[in-house]
Amino acid sequence: MSSDFNGKIVLVTGAGSGIGREAALTFAKRGALVYAADLNENGLAETTSMIAAIGGEARSARVDVSSETDIASLLERIATESGRLDVAFNNAGITGSANRIEDYSADDFDAVVRINLRSVFLGMKYQLPLMKQAGAGAIVNTASVAAVTGPGGMSAYAASKHGVLGLTRVAAMENAAHGIRVNALAPGWTETPMVVANSAQNPAFAELARKAIPAKRGAHPSEIAAAAVWLASSEASYVFGQMLVIDGGMTIGGFEL
Ligand code: NAD
Repeated sequence: MSSDFNGKIVLVTGAGSGIGREAALTFAKRGALVYAADLNENGLAETTSMIAAIGGEARSARVDVSSETDIASLLERIATESGRLDVAFNNAGITGSANRIEDYSADDFDAVVRINLRSVFLGMKYQLPLMKQAGAGAIVNTASVAAVTGPGGMSAYAASKHGVLGLTRVAAMENAAHGIRVNALAPGWTETPMVVANSAQNPAFAELARKAIPAKRGAHPSEIAAAAVWLASSEASYVFGQMLVIDGGMTIGGFEL
């Protein structure tokens, strides 16, 4: 077991499920003390007990990532308890409803942007000062292939994820000289519990989606988490302001001969 995160303090949001849970487990496996944040307390309890079962260390934090008070007090807690923050994986997010723009409710649009985009802004706003004090740190923000494509029906989601890429670039530009690296992750179709459940309900759509992926399968959440951990690790020490696309070839474009 690699121990390159030994003694590191790592914050993962959306740690109660899917990609965030896998990333929290991987960071903990590699020696980090993980602050696992999520709105879903049951999910968090499962994640922290999975980490305890592998002999890792985790602390659970119930937060709404779109709330400035929640994020400010979480970062204050980390500063008090641990004195620093080495890595933040800003990953919590929702898909929102699927409707054409003319039918998309403005309230739903705001909710998706709040949870997917405002959250990343707030996260970095409170994480960066703590990292700056130490003169080092790495932030990884979860975008999506929807940061570079225009999936029909998903205006709010695509707009929020394009926004995550923009925020990532600005944060990388502003902080590169302070020893802090900021990058983004763009997962494609990932077989998280929600996607698996939706596929079971609509197998024809799932089949169509998988066929459209050159690799002919969705990603396992651990394949996405591995990329997040790499971006946060010292192996990526010269990677600044990039978005790593992990999508089984979905966005290659063109056609197979
Ligand atoms: P998931 O639903 O399994 O996990 C998301 C977690 O975020 C959940 O535990 C949920 O409780 C939490 N969350 C939602 N709103 C929150 C809030 N306001 N405050 C705190 N926590 C909140 O989904 P996932 O697939 O693991 O998603 C993780 C990230 O990956 C998201 O940003 C998502 O947009 C992105 N993503 C997923 C896929 C995919 O196919 N699964 C593809 C591209 C991008």
